[in-house]
Amino acid sequence: MTRLLLIGPPGAGKGTQAERLALAFDVPAISTGDIFRYNVTNNTPLGLEVKSFMDAGAYVPDSLTNAIVADRLKEADAANGFLLDGYPRTTDQVAELDRLLVSGGTQLDVVVLITADTDEVVARLLKRAAEQGRADDTAEVIRHRLDVYAEQTAPLIDVYSARSLVVTIDGLGAVEVVTDRILAALAERGLRPDSSTL
Ligand code: ADP
Repeated sequence: MTRLLLIGPPGAGKGTQAERLALAFDVPAISTGDIFRYNVTNNTPLGLEVKSFMDAGAYVPDSLTNAIVADRLKEADAANGFLLDGYPRTTDQVAELDRLLVSGGTQLDVVVLITADTDEVVARLLKRAAEQGRADDTAEVIRHRLDVYAEQTAPLIDVYSARSLVVTIDGLGAVEVVTDRILAALAERGLRPDSSTL
């Protein structure tokens, strides 16, 4: 049973590491950004509701985001652990996740903070923009996303640090190197993948 959160600025590499860690620990990687993007692409009612927020680099309202995560965590594959990528991002979302975990009789194991300086994340996001054309990867929207992160999400690091849950990982370097750093930090906390899928 492994319950992890990945936190860090846009472009730190959360999504990439989330997939690798989920594979290693055999838990679902749950990304609110991916869930929202899937809905936008498929023009679902949820997608229509969240599109304008995402395109502007603003957070989707907590009520909507919390409801999505509450539903997702009820699915069978999350019963034995999960890796949340990009949630919670606000103090209200922290409170909701706390509530969900308490009602499920579980708790978080570790919060992995992936760091990368602003120049690096902006460069990565602009590169991704050129490759994938994500609507929120323009220079202006990237700047806004970084501001929103600093204002609304960075304070969560203190909240989880006060609970002694945070491990800080340098997100600069090759993908595999960063994964190895995370695995080493998790192992120090007694969390080891069952399989050697990496
Ligand atoms: P990034 O971390 O690069 O910003 P994500 O794919 O995690 O990319 O998120 C993309 C967008 O999805 C965010 O800018 C926001 O609009 C929305 N989003 C994702 N997760 C949340 C969340 N927990 N709360 C509110 N909005 C969210």
